[in-house]
Amino acid sequence: MNYVSTRGASAPVSPSRAVLNGIAPDGGLYMPETLGKLTLSEMLSLSTQQMSEKILSVFLPDFEDMAGIVARAYRGKFETEELTPVVPVGDKYVLELFRGPTSAFKDVALSVLPQLIIAAKKQEKVTEKTVILTATSGDTGKAALEGFHDVDGTGIIVFYPDGGVSPIQRAQMVTQEGKNVRVCAVRGNFDDAQTGVKWIFTHAASKLPQGVALSSANSINIGRLAPQVVYYYKAYAELVRAGRIHAGDKVDFTVPTGNFGDILAGYLAKKLGLPVGTLVCASNANNVLTDFIRTGVYDKRRPFYLTTSPSMDILVSSNLERLLWLLSDGDSQLIAKLMRDLSENGFYKIPDAMLQKLQAEFAADWADDEATQAAIGRVWRDHRYLCDTHTAVAWSAAEKFASKAPNVVLSTASPYKFPQAVIRALGETPSENAFAMMDQLHALTGVPVPKNLCGLGERAERHRDVIDKDQMMNYVLSALETI
Ligand SMILES: *Cc1c(COP(=O)(O)O)cnc(C)c1O
Repeated sequence: MNYVSTRGASAPVSPSRAVLNGIAPDGGLYMPETLGKLTLSEMLSLSTQQMSEKILSVFLPDFEDMAGIVARAYRGKFETEELTPVVPVGDKYVLELFRGPTSAFKDVALSVLPQLIIAAKKQEKVTEKTVILTATSGDTGKAALEGFHDVDGTGIIVFYPDGGVSPIQRAQMVTQEGKNVRVCAVRGNFDDAQTGVKWIFTHAASKLPQGVALSSANSINIGRLAPQVVYYYKAYAELVRAGRIHAGDKVDFTVPTGNFGDILAGYLAKKLGLPVGTLVCASNANNVLTDFIRTGVYDKRRPFYLTTSPSMDILVSSNLERLLWLLSDGDSQLIAKLMRDLSENGFYKIPDAMLQKLQAEFAADWADDEATQAAIGRVWRDHRYLCDTHTAVAWSAAEKFASKAPNVVLSTASPYKFPQAVIRALGETPSENAFAMMDQLHALTGVPVPKNLCGLGERAERHRDVIDKDQMMNYVLSALETI
């Protein structure tokens, strides 16, 4: 099985090569040429680790020893052996994806990615140093740093939007230790940082020093996406085991969405045979996806808002390109045209037939900061469950989505990463700084502070670089000399 570019102008590559390249040379995203089906009854009998192994092998069939890769990736890193627990909350379920080393759902995939890259290099006989370039809206950066720091044969450079991440997210990144890491703020928003990184990927080849190859830890990398398919299966299996559903029943999933990676993984799970009903795409005030799913017009020409759910402050959702490719049955000419429309004119419109297919699988809604805050307060008051701002955006969308099927709300971050908004939502006045707020939130709710966030305020800041977006390439070239 090979991987092809959604834009069709690059040659097909092996799965391991797709993981190493990250993005296709024509600017498109890699997709498997064909995807098999998994037998549901078999899947339901597996442990979380076995499920990971099985699903990763479907996407990455040329990787050897997937069991070893999975074992090394997760050993001792998560709070629970099952990695991603499901918690009943009211008449819904919350799928907790934030029990990993940096308290965000990105840990699920970014714990595996370094292992995949090491294995892919071996497979492809690559001896160059792999430097991971990453743009982050707040959580990918730290999760990737955690995964790649001091990993032999790799380096990692993280760009985050200056002033566009929460104080806790920033502190997590700028205190990162490790010989092979750089963390740098970019004056601009996440879209600027992501566009800059994509540009470097497609233009840097001739400028790189000998012995260095770039790769991506963003969800444009298929190695990020495949591990995320697992927790949809895992959540479903848990509901069956608990007697809450019968095998074969449809389950809806509501997903707080930014770059469209998480929710696309749910769609891929459905393609593999998981009985997924509707995928509800939840956005904050940057609701470009809500409008798109309702109308078929993707229009990024709109104000960009900094919200209390910063990891979803995105107007250009990269992985949507993969969904469009799937919905068009791999019509790469059409996808290339739509993406050209987006970059040249700021918008595109999909054909009606494609919109109908889209709306048969997806629904969409959004919540502004006020509605998000109200949802956090309501969930705490009614169910004594404390959720973060991103989860609350999804909860709010799930409440508005009328369906008889069980609804699983994906919870993507610990409330302790966004203490200011959460404390306000509980009707209290936040303390003077983000670290004191964590203690305050603990005193108010009794919910344990995740270990990795304890003592964050005392750690030394090691990364202070701030640059303009047009300096990103030069920054990378000079960083490559020292990491
Ligand atoms: C990254 C992130 C999201 C959005 O996920 P996508 O895969 O980019 O759609 C939502 N919530 C949190 C907390 C995140 O870190």
